[in-house]
Amino acid sequence: MSQARLASCVPLPLENKVLVNVIEKAKDWALMHGVGMRDRKHFNKDVIQIAPFVLLPSPFPRTEFMKAVELQPVLNELMHKVAHDDQFLEQTLQNALQVDEFTKNLYDIWVKVRNEGITQSLCLGLFRSDYLMQRDGNKIKQVEFNTIASSFGAITSNLPAMFRYILRSMGYGDIIKNMPENRALSGLCAGIIEAYDLFGVPDSLVLFVVEEVSYNICDQRFHEFHITEARPDIMVIRKTLCEIYEETELNDKKQLLLEGKPVAVVYYRSGYEPAQYPSSREWDARLRVERSSAIKCPSIHYQLAGTKKVQQALAIPGALEKFMGAGASSGRVRDIFTGLYSLDFDEAGERALEMAIADAERFVLKPQREGGGNNLYGEDVREALLRMRHSRERAAYILMERILPPLVSGYVVRPGAPVPPPLTDLVSELGIFGVIIGTKDKIYSNRQVGHMLRTKLADANEGGVAAGLGALDSPYLLDM
Ligand code: ADP
Ligand code: MG
Repeated sequence: MSQARLASCVPLPLENKVLVNVIEKAKDWALMHGVGMRDRKHFNKDVIQIAPFVLLPSPFPRTEFMKAVELQPVLNELMHKVAHDDQFLEQTLQNALQVDEFTKNLYDIWVKVRNEGITQSLCLGLFRSDYLMQRDGNKIKQVEFNTIASSFGAITSNLPAMFRYILRSMGYGDIIKNMPENRALSGLCAGIIEAYDLFGVPDSLVLFVVEEVSYNICDQRFHEFHITEARPDIMVIRKTLCEIYEETELNDKKQLLLEGKPVAVVYYRSGYEPAQYPSSREWDARLRVERSSAIKCPSIHYQLAGTKKVQQALAIPGALEKFMGAGASSGRVRDIFTGLYSLDFDEAGERALEMAIADAERFVLKPQREGGGNNLYGEDVREALLRMRHSRERAAYILMERILPPLVSGYVVRPGAPVPPPLTDLVSELGIFGVIIGTKDKIYSNRQVGHMLRTKLADANEGGVAAGLGALDSPYLLDM
């Protein structure tokens, strides 16, 4: 049955007086519980403002939510295996590497470190698999799989409590049971702590790799606060790649030394896009970290496995079966894939190119990039493909069928925006967090640890919260 709109958790619209009153309460709750961000326009380290959020939790079908939750360990293991299959990664990335310098730089570090001999075979993955629902049938489809700097686990862990407060203050305390608890923060931190203990060197450090300026500071600091609260013996230090270049060294045991102490775990919250490597120093720092005995989150082959190109290659018939066997699991994973096409110079690539030029609205064109704002939609897809038709550049992109999610009505609360906001049509993207720790041959831990929902205006192409487009949300589960 097709359904273009999901019912909101309470009857809408709200009366203006109610709306103004509850938004004031909600904003204060948000500010006082770190549902916040730094202001890009008037940057001031002393000031945190509210992060954009929706006033009410958005509806999400319970069965699809549970499906995503249950699939997470399956996907964690799949990506772990993909990352350890040298030949598959080589083959899959081969053409994109010729024309994408960023991916090539990552790839070169991977090859170099492999040739030298891997010092640390343990990997830590703090992953997030993202989904939109396809409105025709309301089934989840995977948007992408994040293997580096998967964000918003911390802030969104606070959101069920915020929505409980909002709903209760509006007299809807009876429906809060439909909001699942979210323990993403403690789950993600438990992964870092477990990796620290496996490293097993007393007095070693956890190093967070951060941007020059962290706008999404709450989300990052909560991890640090949580780790140091749970384990006072663990020291967390934040450094940029440039500082890592200047302040760290490798000793003869290949330990990464910072302030004279070995680093046990390196957790990247930066390092996923070209702008974060402005000079060769950042690349040298990355190489040094990869060479070291520190457990990397992610190690470079996890990052390569998280490329869009790999996602597309896994959708080729037979690819999932190669990693997962022909059983039920591969069928369940295939079910969440939407159309994914390579644009390589071969018969399949030509076919995909012609198909998208003829009907561009149906597709999204994606380069090998993370962090939002890089994809092309609609007429831009056609233009780009016509321009790249005979150029090798096109191999750096994949083509993906556009997912059209069901609409939900809601109010978005933004810093500095007029109150009350208009009632608008929104769409939601679900992210499920997963933790995996293991070597090529042995998996020590593999679990689903929590979720995030972010919601954007229905007519916006992308909804990155850090980019200022989306709003933080938490699912309100519907039994449909
Ligand atoms: P990034 O690595 O930049 O986050 P994504 O693949 O997640 O790249 O795309 C960014 C955003 O674009 C998504 O959060 C989603 O809002 C939108 N998007 C991506 N792929 C699709 C798709 N196939 N259909 C509809 N929207 C999409
Ligand atoms: Mg994304």
